Amino acid sequence: MTDASDSDAIVQNVQSVLHHIRQAADRVGRQSDTIRLIAVTKSVSVSRIRHAVAAGVRLFGENRLQEALPKIASFGAEEGLGWHFVGRLQRRKVKSVVGAFVMIQSVDSLELAGEINRRAEEAGVCQEILLEVNIGGESTKAGFSLPGVVDALPVLDSMSHLSVKGLMAVPPPTREAGSARPYFRRLSELARSLARTDLRRVRMDELSMGMSNDFETAVEEGATFVRVGTAIFGPRPR
Ligand SMILES: *Cc1c(COP(=O)(O)O)cnc(C)c1O
Repeated sequence: MTDASDSDAIVQNVQSVLHHIRQAADRVGRQSDTIRLIAVTKSVSVSRIRHAVAAGVRLFGENRLQEALPKIASFGAEEGLGWHFVGRLQRRKVKSVVGAFVMIQSVDSLELAGEINRRAEEAGVCQEILLEVNIGGESTKAGFSLPGVVDALPVLDSMSHLSVKGLMAVPPPTREAGSARPYFRRLSELARSLARTDLRRVRMDELSMGMSNDFETAVEEGATFVRVGTAIFGPRPR
């Protein structure tokens, strides 16, 4: 593919995804500006990411630190991009993530949260995070269990350099669009049930759910962030 036609395809894909987000929001009477698109750029080159920037995308998601850091460094601060970490995060890599990413969406344990808090304090920043919930109860998947997240909240609230913004989930893989709906609904209901006014640093305003196959369903169920890769950049190399 030529660079020009690749660029056109990415711009069109972004417009199409945004259009479908607006339509899904309309169907359930939501304001579409409460839903933000995160373009997931794992395995996507900087030059292709630039096409998405040209199409107006400002938020990007990466799941591998080694890959993400040089990419992030190649964009200037004046471009106003926000990077979200969405992958499995090892404790020894936390130091490099804090500060480089505006939000860490994949915080799956109190130990990890504690390490992020420690590194954020050292760096003199307050790190925004989401709590990843293992919404399908899958044994192979990371994330807080549903009871686990309830117990974690008061502890998280005591961590002075963390700001918990809400929940994130990756439901079990499904073949048909729409079959993730019960998981999205469960995450929404969990966030509502966890919203507590007595906690200072823990909010439940953000719900990160929905990927290329099912972001419209996620919007219908209350997503505030959708994480879309393939529908913008095409299939990833295996
Ligand atoms: C890769 C990835 C996505 C995007 O998936 P697509 O199906 O390509 O849209 C979303 N969230 C996470 C956590 C990912 O790792």
